[in-house]
Amino acid sequence: MLAAMPPTPPPTPEPGEARIRDRGDACPGALRLHPADDGRLARLRLPAGRLTARQAGLLAHAAESLGDGRISITSRGNAELRGLGEGCGADLAALLAGAGLLPSPTHERVRNIVASPGAGLDGLGHADVQLWARALDAALCAEPRAASLSGRFLFVLDDGRGDVAGLGGDVSLIAGPEGSVLLRLGPEAFRLAAEDDDTAGDDTADGDTAADTAVVSASAGVPASAVAVRAALVAALAFLDAAEAAGNGAWRPRELPDGHVPDWAGALARAGITAEPVPVPPLPASPPPAPGPLGERALHVLAPLGRLTAAQLRALADGADELRFTPWRGVVAVGARADRLPDLEAHGLVTRPDLPSVGVSACTGRPGCAKSLADVRTDALAAPAGPLPVHFSGCERRCGHPHGTWVDVLATGDDTYLVDGVPTPRTSLPEAVTTARSLPTHTR
Ligand code: SF4
Repeated sequence: MLAAMPPTPPPTPEPGEARIRDRGDACPGALRLHPADDGRLARLRLPAGRLTARQAGLLAHAAESLGDGRISITSRGNAELRGLGEGCGADLAALLAGAGLLPSPTHERVRNIVASPGAGLDGLGHADVQLWARALDAALCAEPRAASLSGRFLFVLDDGRGDVAGLGGDVSLIAGPEGSVLLRLGPEAFRLAAEDDDTAGDDTADGDTAADTAVVSASAGVPASAVAVRAALVAALAFLDAAEAAGNGAWRPRELPDGHVPDWAGALARAGITAEPVPVPPLPASPPPAPGPLGERALHVLAPLGRLTAAQLRALADGADELRFTPWRGVVAVGARADRLPDLEAHGLVTRPDLPSVGVSACTGRPGCAKSLADVRTDALAAPAGPLPVHFSGCERRCGHPHGTWVDVLATGDDTYLVDGVPTPRTSLPEAVTTARSLPTHTR
């Protein structure tokens, strides 16, 4: 039986430093259940969104036997169970541990790794970053200090196609051609210095002193994945050093005060990693894959409003070797054949790009969230089709909103919304949303 973990105490501020928060990270986890209006909520980290078919079956069982029978997919490709009973924490922990989904109870909330879901499946991209994600997860869980990372700290591994590079990772690895790897460290500007060349390769780094990224060289017999994974872990630990020194309670690098930028370059050098500063290149960017076949041996489907029933999850696992939950609240079923698509559509999953629910998302809303001013999920289900993503929110926190360009539908009362800031009665939502989804003018 696994015990609930105590909250991480906030660090002590230095004299003169303003704290940005005075509480520890209260992010929900699988062992730290969050009270919600519809019962307890558990958030299960799935590095790279990965579940084996057996684990998917056990997760469906957990949702049915302990929760409300549904599995939500988060914007990081993690899983949430809702409607959990007051005393079910130990049973849930035992079930997840038995499924191999809790490899380290002390690290369960820090395993936030998003990786290109199509990596290794469709011939796009430069590396199988799904394998990197597994190695990074193992490295994180093996490093005791990493347990101090916030549950919000995010690792992003993009295989070079650009589908996840823009998701706001605190530590991002982007695979390039010929084994090169771009390491981007948070949204703040920083410099990294080149060090020993034991693993130096053919990087295109030019040593620009205005750099805030580094290329990690990865040839000379050292697999790119090994170097990249080590660099990502070293960077995360360098952030912890900086956060401890700042003492302001920062959970992510962007929250560090001036003068407390982590010593990224020094940390990499001390770890023996060759890292050469380069200017920030334009990040690769590509939209999520359309629902349907993904390469020769996988399918991609979307969960309506990001929520699966237990039966839908079992249907996805049927005939698949593994599932990958995606940041756009879909599922890649690896090993599933295209002849599974009619059955998945019959289960209510989004299997074609021309269905109206493509690109529609919503927060929990009422009745699950006490802050919500409306039942936004019901209204979102009626949203008309359009080229732009649209997100319905029950309050100004806009939980789970997409990245990039999207239409903002914000509840202001039972029967009133703001559609991209324009007051709109609920009865006029279809026309207003149709118009807004056709006007690509809003980027957040
Ligand atoms: S956006 Fe507001 S209403 Fe919606 S889930 Fe978040 S806190 Fe609740």
